[in-house]
Amino acid sequence: MTTATTHGGPQLPQERRLVTEIPGPRSRELFARKQSAVPPGIGTTLPVFVTHAGGGVVVDADGNSLIDFGSGIAVTSVGNAAPRVVERVQKQVADFTHTCFMVTPYESYVEVCEKLNGLTPGDHEKRTFLVNSGAEAVENAVKVARHATGRQAVVVFDHGYHGRTLLTMTLTAKNMPYKQGFGPFAPEVHRVPLAYPFRWPTGPENCADEAAAQAIDMINKQVGAENVAAVVIEPIAGEGGFIEPARGFLPKILEFCRANGIVFIADEVQTGFARTGDLFACEDEGIVPDIICTAKGIAGGLPLAAVTGRAELLDSVHVGGLGGTYGGNPLACEAALGVLETIEQEKLVERAAHIGEVMLSRLRALRERVDIIGDVRGRGAMIAIELVVPGTKDPLPAGEIAAKCHAEGLLVLTAGTYGNVLRFLPPLVMPDNLLEEGLSILEKALSGD
Ligand SMILES: *Cc1c(COP(=O)(O)O)cnc(C)c1O
Repeated sequence: MTTATTHGGPQLPQERRLVTEIPGPRSRELFARKQSAVPPGIGTTLPVFVTHAGGGVVVDADGNSLIDFGSGIAVTSVGNAAPRVVERVQKQVADFTHTCFMVTPYESYVEVCEKLNGLTPGDHEKRTFLVNSGAEAVENAVKVARHATGRQAVVVFDHGYHGRTLLTMTLTAKNMPYKQGFGPFAPEVHRVPLAYPFRWPTGPENCADEAAAQAIDMINKQVGAENVAAVVIEPIAGEGGFIEPARGFLPKILEFCRANGIVFIADEVQTGFARTGDLFACEDEGIVPDIICTAKGIAGGLPLAAVTGRAELLDSVHVGGLGGTYGGNPLACEAALGVLETIEQEKLVERAAHIGEVMLSRLRALRERVDIIGDVRGRGAMIAIELVVPGTKDPLPAGEIAAKCHAEGLLVLTAGTYGNVLRFLPPLVMPDNLLEEGLSILEKALSGD
């Protein structure tokens, strides 16, 4: 079976279209091949095999067109095959594909770094270097903080997710599936409470103050502030379930870091690049991190990540102490420049805020009549629903509702420490009619109609 168009990108018909059951026969055939060629450790959210994607849809091998509320986990914020990204990458791939920036440099890498130095929070002197993945960015940020401070301890938070390498899985809070059986873990990592308003024992109004006091007390008593190189925190916990720390919590942690010479590292791998209705989620409370890690939405799906931070921190590392073979690959740099142009020219920061308003108003109304919805939260195009057993806060696993949405042609993702969060990360270029249609499918799945 073939699709109506031969190209991806926003030219793809922006419609939900189901021509087979989900997954269809061709996808099931391919999935059987996947099962014998790829280990099960590489999981699958929805086993439809994609042939094209663009705007707000993904099209599968059976010709079904699904509404995309996932963006490949917050990556294709400018859409799939965004024209400015395609054009730049096509030109670059014909010019040269790689030199290794550490061997013979090229301009696009420098330009991406200049842009990030200018766009990230704070008007202090900054430096940026590029790597391949979010985990690599976080790991490098910790290396820099340790080197610059001469200290070793790293403090992270409950519900945090920072990647799958040895150090970053150690920084990650959740055991299953990220850590189970993969120890021993990296030393000198300490975990403290996060201000999780919905689940704070004494209620959301006390959450910021109490959580910050507990976190700071644990650091002082169990680690010693003078031993801490860095605090690593997501301004909105992503995999943990789109938990927005209670307002006031982040500023208190930042103030503690400043008073004790601790490097404040914001992991904006999921929240960055217009996703939350600000270019970076830290802007919402005026947080100026010492180092900010970015990836996912940075390059329209090409592998790229960045570490941006105070010049005096990044410049403290000796020549040759940072880098990697592929970091800042020229195709990925061109893609990032195309992404930044797209965000600006298509006003995607404002667009993300608009998506958030549409989603929150419909989902909050739904909460009034659907008793399994415990909480509706998030900012911009990063919105989640936390499911509970009616009348309690006991987690209700989100898999069944997600499966109902998938069967109707709406791609949604799950998350959460308790696996009970449905999360929505639509491409910022998704047309309003598709957004509304996706929400209607979701409403039906949640209300059991
Ligand atoms: C996805 C993610 C990472 C890891 O990024 P990879 O590119 O998968 O290595 C780190 N931190 C956060 C907040 C993430 O969402």
